[in-house]
Order: sequence, then C-alpha cells, then structure tokens
Amino acid sequence: MRFSRYFLPVLKETPKEAEIISHQLMLRAGLIKQQAAGSYSWLPFGYKVLMKVQRIVEEEQNRAGAVEMLMPTLQSADLWRESGRYDAYGKEMLRIQDRHERDMLFGPTNEEMITDVFRSYVRSYKDLPLNLYHVQWKFRDEVRPRFGTMRSREFLMKDAYSFDLDKDRAVAAYNRMFVAYLRTYWRMGLTAIPMRAETGPIGGDLSHEFIVLAETGESGVFCHADMLDKPIPPADTDFRGDLTPIVQDWTSLYAATEDMFDKAEYEATVPENKRISARGIEVGQTFYFGTKYSEPMKATVTRPDGQEVAVHMGSYGVGVSRVIPAIIEASHDDAGIIWPVSVAPFEAILISLKVGDAATDAAAEKLYAELDAAGIDVLYDDRDQGAGGKFATADLIGVPYQLIVGPRGLKDGQVEIKHRKGGERETLAIDAAVARLKGLIEPQRRDQA
Ligand code: ATP
Ligand code: MG
Repeated sequence: MRFSRYFLPVLKETPKEAEIISHQLMLRAGLIKQQAAGSYSWLPFGYKVLMKVQRIVEEEQNRAGAVEMLMPTLQSADLWRESGRYDAYGKEMLRIQDRHERDMLFGPTNEEMITDVFRSYVRSYKDLPLNLYHVQWKFRDEVRPRFGTMRSREFLMKDAYSFDLDKDRAVAAYNRMFVAYLRTYWRMGLTAIPMRAETGPIGGDLSHEFIVLAETGESGVFCHADMLDKPIPPADTDFRGDLTPIVQDWTSLYAATEDMFDKAEYEATVPENKRISARGIEVGQTFYFGTKYSEPMKATVTRPDGQEVAVHMGSYGVGVSRVIPAIIEASHDDAGIIWPVSVAPFEAILISLKVGDAATDAAAEKLYAELDAAGIDVLYDDRDQGAGGKFATADLIGVPYQLIVGPRGLKDGQVEIKHRKGGERETLAIDAAVARLKGLIEPQRRDQA
C-alpha cells in the first residue's frame, strides 16, 4: 500500500478527551474516530487490525471444532420474554420499536437467539456436541462508556454457544473453548490469564474471565505469578481428546477476580513472593450455565434411551474490539504503538527519504515490488515530506520493521532496517534486505504456531 494513496490521518496533538494511552494512540495513529458517545468508526488502519484479530479468533474457534454463522443485530423482544431476561436486563439493553410498534432490541448478547436456532432444528443426542459462533456487533447502553473501544456502547464480539447432552459433556466443551482462548490471546501477543469469575446476567456456576494485566484495567485481580509464563497448548493439540489435564494444570494455580476473591485460600495456596494483586482488562469470558435457557425455551433433545431432556449450554465471548486497546496498553513506548507481527496492520514500512531523487525512487520502487512478491504486507511511505516527520509517524503507528532507503546509503548500495520494538538498527546491502525482513517476520506470524 502506498501511503500517498492510503487514508491514514495521523494527529500531532494528543486529544484531550482521551484518558489512557491506548485511547490516545488509537486516535493519534488514525485507527478510530469517535462518532457519538461510545461509538466509533474504524478507519482503514484500525479496521485492518480488527480484521486480523477477528481472523485469529476464527481460526482458533474452528480448530476447536466450533462452527461459524451470523445472526442479526436486531432481535425480537419476544425471545427475551421467553427466557425472562427482557425485564431482567435493565437499562443496558437498547430497546427499539419498529413501524408496527413491535418491541425489538439491539442484541447485547445472543443466548436466546441461538437457543431458538438450536430448537428449530436439533432433536436428537446424535447431533451433539454442537458449538455455533458468530462475530457480530453488540450494543450495550453502558452508563459510562470510556477509554475508546475498551468500553464502548457498540462493540464487536465473538460469541460461541455450546450444546451438549449432559453436564460432563458440557464441561468437556467448556474445556475446548478454554484451551482455544489460551491459544487465541497468545497468538495476538497477549498474556491473558484465566481467572475464576462471577457469571453476572448470563448466569451459571462455572466461569472464567481472561484477563490481561494493565494498570489502566477496570478489574481488580489476584493471582499466582507462575500464571504469567505458563506454556501455551500447541496448535496440534487434539481437541477431540480429553483436555481436562490441561485445564486442571491452569486452574490449579490461584487466579480470581476481586468479586470471587477468597483471601484465606489465596494466602494458604500462594507463597508470599508469588502473590500478584493487580489491575486487569477483561478480554474474554467463558460460562457454563447448564439448562438456564434451554429449559424455559424448550430446547430439548432425545437421549439414547428415548427420554427428552433440556440441553446443557455454555457461552464464550471474546471482546474483539477491546482486544486492540489491550494490546496497545501492553505494547507501546513514548514514541507510539509497538504492534506484534501477528496483528500488525502492516508487517513493514518502507520509508523513502528523498522522494523525487531518481536513484532513491528507483531503489524504493524495486524494494516495494520485491516485498510484495515475498508476501510481506508493506506500507510504502512515498510521500514527499521531511525525514524527521516520516520517522516520527513510523514510530507512532508502530509497524514492526522499518526499511529506510536514502541517497546517502544508496551510494554504497546500502539500506537500513530499524526494529520498532527494541530500536536496533542494521545496515545491510540493498539486495539482502527483503530476505532479511522475511527471516525476521515469518517466525513471528504465529499462524500455525
Ligand atoms: P464488562 O464486565 O467489562 O462490562 P461483561 O462481563 O459484561 O464485560 P461479557 O458479557 O462477558 O462482558 O462479554 C464478553 C466480552 O465482550 C468481554 O469479556 C469483553 O471483552 C467484551 N465487552 C463487554 N462489554 C464491552 C464493552 N462495553 N465494550 C467493549 N468490549 C466489551
Ligand atoms: Mg464478562
């Protein structure tokens, strides 16, 4: 992509309304634009990250055996009357009437609708297990939307719903999502710790919040320090097998949100030098809630013995649009964002230091074509502007590698690579640059890892 033809409106000043660093950087680096309280446009640069995050979420859901679909944003109030949540949900639910004065709502979550899909088609235990998911916009009329897309009113969520014959099988389904979540966040470069959590309006008795530690996080959390560097289950994990040992290994160490905090247990099981009491960002939550929706909504299947029983369900959310500020909170410096390669809007930025100089233009155009041919997603800064501003922009927008081409180096046939993360610089022969970048980037893509 040529910068001159792209749409990347970078702001010099830090917008006053933004309190936390990720919100400031998302506005300054041209990822989002606020449209109303808690409502944002995703500009091209931000949208690219959003889609990369969504793709990783989808790949890991699919790997774990969930099946993707899409449900509407507007829902009929009648479905929610069946479960009893139409009255229970409160002011966070945006209620709407259509021209026929039918009660509708903008979905804050989809347990009712998916239960309706399920009961319309599934009759027998033979069709189980089943896990259906979608990635769709939600609306919650939050009292205090803030911190940009961290807590917005309209936000993108991946929500999956599992259906099983009984509790044991439902817990096995829960475990598959648990392992998928560990892999999902890790692939985005995040350390997200599963913590015992309260179930809130979704209901149920088994739940974990996946939490990224950050000073600006809205949740208070307590955990064992060893949770921070546990190895992540590999891509070839057998999701048809028993995942209990993996989940047990993770849940055996103490980790809980403040709502579930048990001081006595914490102090008895975590040595003093391993106690972490911190703030965190909830990037996802998993729930097992049994027959809470299937019973009132009559979502039943027949067992092998012919008896009809309500299906056991779980639901599993990832805050797709919240993950992005969480990544930025965890990975930035004074100059700007530092994207992990796997979710970076571009993997490299090619910076031409003297647009209009024949030799520099020729070398930069050639590198641009070669990077493209090598499968590297590159932003080519071909704007006729001073070097200082270009460097500042490249650092601000956080592309992992900068390939710098200018007349001085070219005299000796050389270009420079700057690593955004550590700040290291390498000078190398122009012919070696593309292979070097490939060698740096490919191992970090984490696609099959
Ligand atoms: P919170 O406690 O932060 O309000 P929640 O527990 O109500 O979130 P869930 O119902 O568990 O949210 O939704 C699944 C995921 O969706 C959350 O883990 C979070 O990452 C994301 N999410 C929830 N509310 C918002 C919001 N207002 N803006 C952005 N993301 C959100
Ligand atoms: Mg939650």
